[in-house]
Amino acid sequence: MHNIATLPLLLKQLGLPSMYSHWEELAETAQKKSWTYPQYLKALSELEATTRYQNRVQRHLKESKLPAGKTLATFDFKITKSLNPAQIKALAEDTGWVKKAENIIIFGPSGVGKTHIAAAIADNLITQGIRSLFISTTTLVQQLQLARSIYKLPEAIDKLSRIPLLILDDIGYAKKDEAETNVLFELIAERYETGSIIITANQPFSEWNNIFPDNMMAVAAIDRLVHHSTIINIKAESYRKNQAGKKEK
Ligand code: ADP
Ligand code: MG
Repeated sequence: MHNIATLPLLLKQLGLPSMYSHWEELAETAQKKSWTYPQYLKALSELEATTRYQNRVQRHLKESKLPAGKTLATFDFKITKSLNPAQIKALAEDTGWVKKAENIIIFGPSGVGKTHIAAAIADNLITQGIRSLFISTTTLVQQLQLARSIYKLPEAIDKLSRIPLLILDDIGYAKKDEAETNVLFELIAERYETGSIIITANQPFSEWNNIFPDNMMAVAAIDRLVHHSTIINIKAESYRKNQAGKKEK
């Protein structure tokens, strides 16, 4: 007969924390329910796998900095009629477009749900193992400009390239970067066909020359973004106004 005294130590040593804390309790269940040895081992392994998955998702949700509560479950497609629910759900459930390093660009006036939809898509993809980062474009540009000022721009862009999905919120608010190498352009060029971006924008492409130093750079950025992308237009049916209207009644 094997001495099981060292089992907890072994489980710890092997890095199996859920098995470590539940093997005894599950052994009792196994006895009560007359599980076979393989059934017991499977139940224990399943517990370890599930806990690891849940912890990983929690970790990735935290690192993503997604705005809280902006999920598909809290989005009402009846209010935002210009969106096709099936299209949005497909983008949120199918990781294929991220694997192919494609992009999504969401246009629409202020308050129509652009940020909510972008966050909801990412939120769902994180549960499928896609690591994401949500950041306002203004903040990102500031961070990259700072990196450039200390000659660390390539490192900063490289760090971002390890995240498969980047959500650049409100690209139109990014201040024009007059320097010779525009950091936002650098980032877009670097991610072209290697990483996905979801962009939300108040302004149509025709006004993106306000974001980049010159027309040529704006066109080059748009070309790269659009080459493999889904464009979503949300019409001016403001949710905020809708809610305010409800309260007034
Ligand atoms: P935008 O980014 O286009 O300015 P937001 O995504 O920030 O707009 O939406 C404004 C607010 O309205 C947010 O609190 C968002 O969660 C909410 N909202 C917008 N559309 C919907 C909707 N269809 N269902 C639920 N909440 C919505
Ligand atoms: Mg927004």
